[in-house]
Amino acid sequence: MSDRKYHIETLALHAGQVPDPATNACAVPVYRTTAYSFRDSKHGADLFALKEFGNIYARLMNPTNDVLEKRLAALDGGAAALTLASGTAAIYFALTNIARAGDEIVSANNLYGGTFTQFDAILPQGGITVRFAPVNDLAATEARINEKTRALYIETVGNPNLDIADIEAYAVLAKKYHLPLVVDATFTPPTLLRPIEHGANIVIHSLSKWIGGHGTGIGGVVIDAGNFDWSDPKFALYNEPDRGYHGLRFAHDLGDLNSLAFILRLRTVGLRNQGPTLAPDAAWIFLQGVESLPLRMARHSENARNVAEYLAKHPKVAWVRYPGNDPLADKYLPDGAGGMVVFGVKGGAEEARKLVDSVELFTLLANVGDAKSLIIHPASTTHSQLSEEDQHKGGLQPELIRLSIGLEHIDDIIGALDDALAKL
Ligand SMILES: *Cc1c(COP(=O)(O)O)cnc(C)c1O
Repeated sequence: MSDRKYHIETLALHAGQVPDPATNACAVPVYRTTAYSFRDSKHGADLFALKEFGNIYARLMNPTNDVLEKRLAALDGGAAALTLASGTAAIYFALTNIARAGDEIVSANNLYGGTFTQFDAILPQGGITVRFAPVNDLAATEARINEKTRALYIETVGNPNLDIADIEAYAVLAKKYHLPLVVDATFTPPTLLRPIEHGANIVIHSLSKWIGGHGTGIGGVVIDAGNFDWSDPKFALYNEPDRGYHGLRFAHDLGDLNSLAFILRLRTVGLRNQGPTLAPDAAWIFLQGVESLPLRMARHSENARNVAEYLAKHPKVAWVRYPGNDPLADKYLPDGAGGMVVFGVKGGAEEARKLVDSVELFTLLANVGDAKSLIIHPASTTHSQLSEEDQHKGGLQPELIRLSIGLEHIDDIIGALDDALAKL
């Protein structure tokens, strides 16, 4: 594509793609191959020595994934991206691409349940400590930063409380201590919010949610803004010679590509030697989702706003939270606040479960971001691994019901909720 600055609707359809060089296919082909042949032994040797860039083996590169990576980097305003087997893998491999045993990460505490468990129980097994602070409590966050800290971590919209993180305030703090700001933006795809424009250095999405958009695949992506200087010696993974890569120092020895040290290390160490590769079939599914992402996010946001307004007026509803009502919404989500609504019914957890069991149209499951409307009671499911105290700290009330509002007609969505509330 030319240097012309295209709108995000256009990038969602075209970025990263040229007609297939082998066949002129208009759609992105699925390259189902394990390896790629070398023209001759010199070609193979040059590829391995990084003297020439090209395809070697599909654990570390695939032309189908490559289009998705370029497209997602373009949508988020990043320099480069890497797809991985799941959002969970994207988070794990992004953070272990920054921190090693003995290092620490400071994170907001209002996290996706699986991420909280990874930080609280899994990363410590590898010697990485995560210190939690309440989201947007910048003083508490700063108090947890010390000489071992290697990253700040937030979600754009917290789970399940739906509070908006003040990304710019975190970016100021990250700069002050020369730390990368890592942002999970799954709940706010790039047509709604682009964290890099607010100072983030690394952006992560679970592709399994709105970007895929149809509940048909598991995948994740890590996007590198290419704007962080890794040459500070405290980032040992970038400054000490890498035994796994001919003694390469990623922050120093990549020449013109030093600014992409993070994403290149994620591919060469994360994918190449640890193997969390996204299958090209799944990449193809996510490419279909990306094409209609701008249209879908507008409708998800409009439907969710209508549901939030309806629930707020209902006499059996105790409270409603929806990112569009957050004081930070005007700043961070001017084009729509996404598809999520949480609310509490009067009568507590028991009434909440009754509603979840009786509502029509909404599918009861542990997922968000499908084209279909979804419902769940997090305290007894997605967040049940958390102690009652950690649930409370993350702002999860026992009566909270989480809705992921789909693309059905708004009258049908509200009608289903209205019938279920009438039965309480
Ligand atoms: C779903 C989700 C994840 C995990 O992604 P998977 O693709 O399911 O592994 C991480 N963060 C958030 C905010 C999510 O919603």
